[in-house]
Amino acid sequence: MSTPQIKPNLIPNIMFVDMNSFFASCEQQVNYYLRNKPIAVCVYPGKYGSIIAPSIEAKRKGVKTGMRLSDAIKICPELIPLETHPSRYREIHVELMDVFHKYSDVVYAKSIDEAVIKFTHLKYIHKDLIKVAQQIKEDIKSQVGDYLKCSIGIAPNTFLAKLASDIKKPDGLTLISPENIDDVLKNIKLTDLPGIAKPTALKLNDAGITSVVQLRHTNHEKLKKAFKSIVGIQWNQRLNFIETENYSSQYKSMQAMRQISKAQRKSLQNIKNLLASLCLTLEKRLTKQGLYLKEVTLTVRYETGEHYHDIIKSSQPIQEGAEIMKLINKNIKLYEDQNPNTTVINSQVNMLSVNVFDFVSDEENQFNMFDNNLQKRKLRKTVEKLRDKYGNTKVKKAAELHEKEAMVDAIGFGSVKHLYKYQANDSDILITENFPD
Ligand SMILES: [Mg+2]
Repeated sequence: MSTPQIKPNLIPNIMFVDMNSFFASCEQQVNYYLRNKPIAVCVYPGKYGSIIAPSIEAKRKGVKTGMRLSDAIKICPELIPLETHPSRYREIHVELMDVFHKYSDVVYAKSIDEAVIKFTHLKYIHKDLIKVAQQIKEDIKSQVGDYLKCSIGIAPNTFLAKLASDIKKPDGLTLISPENIDDVLKNIKLTDLPGIAKPTALKLNDAGITSVVQLRHTNHEKLKKAFKSIVGIQWNQRLNFIETENYSSQYKSMQAMRQISKAQRKSLQNIKNLLASLCLTLEKRLTKQGLYLKEVTLTVRYETGEHYHDIIKSSQPIQEGAEIMKLINKNIKLYEDQNPNTTVINSQVNMLSVNVFDFVSDEENQFNMFDNNLQKRKLRKTVEKLRDKYGNTKVKKAAELHEKEAMVDAIGFGSVKHLYKYQANDSDILITENFPD
C-alpha cells in the first residue's frame, strides 16, 4: 500500500455539525415540562434500564451514557427517566438535514445526530462560514426546535472539523485554520483525537511523540518506523489538512425486513433463523458496496400491535452478518435480563426489520483493521464474486448453513473450500436502500 499523494486543502470550508445530547433534547423539545431538567432517555425506563442519552442538565450532574438508571439516580435523585422514541428523532433528523441543504447541496449525514456540510465549491456564495454556522444555529432554533443545540466545527478537512466540533459542548462554534491550528492542538491530548486509543498513544510515546502538535510536525519516515505501517502517516496527514475521509459511498442506510407468517412463528428457532437471514442479506449488500456500519436498529412487531425497537451503536465498524447478529443478541439479552418476564423473540412476532446506518467505507476502515479482519474481508469478497457468477442463492458461506454456531461465535466462519450448493428462499426479504436526502 503506498501513501496517497494528495494536496492539502488550506481553506477551512468543511463544516461538522454535532447535535448536543440529541435524543434527550428532542424529548425536551416536544415536552415543555422536561426542559432545563436532568432527563435520561433509556431503552427501558425501569429500575435497571440503561441510559442511552442523558440531557445536558443530567450530564452536568455526572450522569453518563451506559449507566444503569438505579446507579444514575443515586448521583442525581431528580433524574427523569424516559422511554426512547426513535421515530421522533428520525423526523427531527430529516428537518435538520433540510436546514443544512439550504446552505450547501453537499451534505452527508454521519449518523442520526451528526452531519458534514461541504462548502469547497461555494467560496463565492458563502464568504464567511462563521456567519453561516451562526445562521444554521438560528435556523435550527426557529425552523426545527427552539430547544435544540449543536456544536459546530469548521476546518479544512472532515477530521479537523469534527475535532473542532468536540472542543466546546454544548452550543460550540470553533474554527481550525492553518493560522491557529497549533494553538488549538496545544490543549488536546493524543488520546483526545477520535480514533487514537491508549495503545496507539503509547506507540507514539515510544517514538518520542508525546503531543498532538508534535505528531503534526513529525516527518513521515519517523512515523512509518514507529507504526511499521502507514497509520501514523495518516494521522499526520489529517493534522496537515489532507482529506482522508472517503465520500464515495452514496448510501445512508439499508434496511432488510420481512413479515413472519403464522406457520413460521410456530418455531422460535425459525424466527431466530429468519432474523439471522436478514443480517446476512445486509452483509451481502454491505460487502458489495464496500461499506461497514456503526449503527444498527432492530424493530420487532407483534400480533398484539405492540413493538420492540432498539438502537445499537457499534464501537468498531462491522460488516459481517454474524457480528450484526451478535450486537442485536447482546442487547436483546440485556433487555431480557432487565425485564425478567419478557421475551423479545416470541411466538407473537409478525414482522422483523433490521436497519443499518452510519457507514464507513472499505478504504477508511482498512487502516483500523487487524490482519484477521483483512483475511475475512478477502474471503467475503471471494464469496460475493462466486455468488455473482453462480447465482445468488446457490452459493452460501458454510457459516450461513450453521447460523446458530455462527451467531454464537462471531469469528466462527467456514472457509471457501466448504462452499456448496444451497437452496434458499430469500425472496420474501425486502431490502431498501436510502441515499442521502
Ligand atoms: Mg451529538
